[in-house]
Amino acid sequence: MSHGAPLFVGNWKMNKNASQTRSFIEAFVPLADAIPPHIRIAIAPPFTALGSAAAALSPSRRVALAAQNVSEFPEGAYTGEIAVSMLAEFDVAYVILGHSERRLYQRESDAEIGAKVRATLAAGMTPILAVGESLAVREEGHAVAHVLAQIDGAVGALDDESAAQLVIAYEPVWAIGTGKNCDCERAQEMALAIRQRRSAFAEIPILYGGSMKPENAAAYVRMPDIDGGLVGGASLDPRSFADLIAGAVAA
Ligand code: PEP
Repeated sequence: MSHGAPLFVGNWKMNKNASQTRSFIEAFVPLADAIPPHIRIAIAPPFTALGSAAAALSPSRRVALAAQNVSEFPEGAYTGEIAVSMLAEFDVAYVILGHSERRLYQRESDAEIGAKVRATLAAGMTPILAVGESLAVREEGHAVAHVLAQIDGAVGALDDESAAQLVIAYEPVWAIGTGKNCDCERAQEMALAIRQRRSAFAEIPILYGGSMKPENAAAYVRMPDIDGGLVGGASLDPRSFADLIAGAVAA
């Protein structure tokens, strides 16, 4: 953990309505205040809760907001989509893009994810590009090649200045929501391969995601190329998310 300020992002997926989001924030902000201020913390509620989250977070500003997706288009006839300008209204700082659930259920391609990355950067927000291999790909021995191809496919054409503004989250698909976390050495091996892919990635935050818990987070962030976590299930409870971050950064 040595590339800029560590970053922990809670990906709530399709969990919590607006009032549940407010309750979480009331409980979480005092806990987050006790975490060293250089540690960056963000939560990614569903779109419908971004307004109440923004209002509840604004007095302290200790915790940033992230979105779980965005459209690549600026506005127009795209029923059901959300534009970057709509996220900007709520001071959204990060946008998670390319999550494996969206790649699977919405069939998002690397090209589409790349377009969303460019729209996000153009709006002054930070994309968190999620990449990761399935169990079959890992067992065939192609995990690194697969992940690097996802990165090249989405952001290979970005100029260096833009590429240096990314956050990349390595999330092995077989470790997401399964309780089967990837061992730290394998996660580090992948994080290093990502970092070495291009010189613009030398200082970007690379996160691990996949069944990260208070009990195992410290072991990941002790790895030289892992700079924090993208956390699903363990970010839904304020105490568990705070314990995870506090434990990880105390290590
Ligand atoms: C995720 O969805 O990004 C994730 C890492 O989920 P979990 O922590 O529940 O495995």
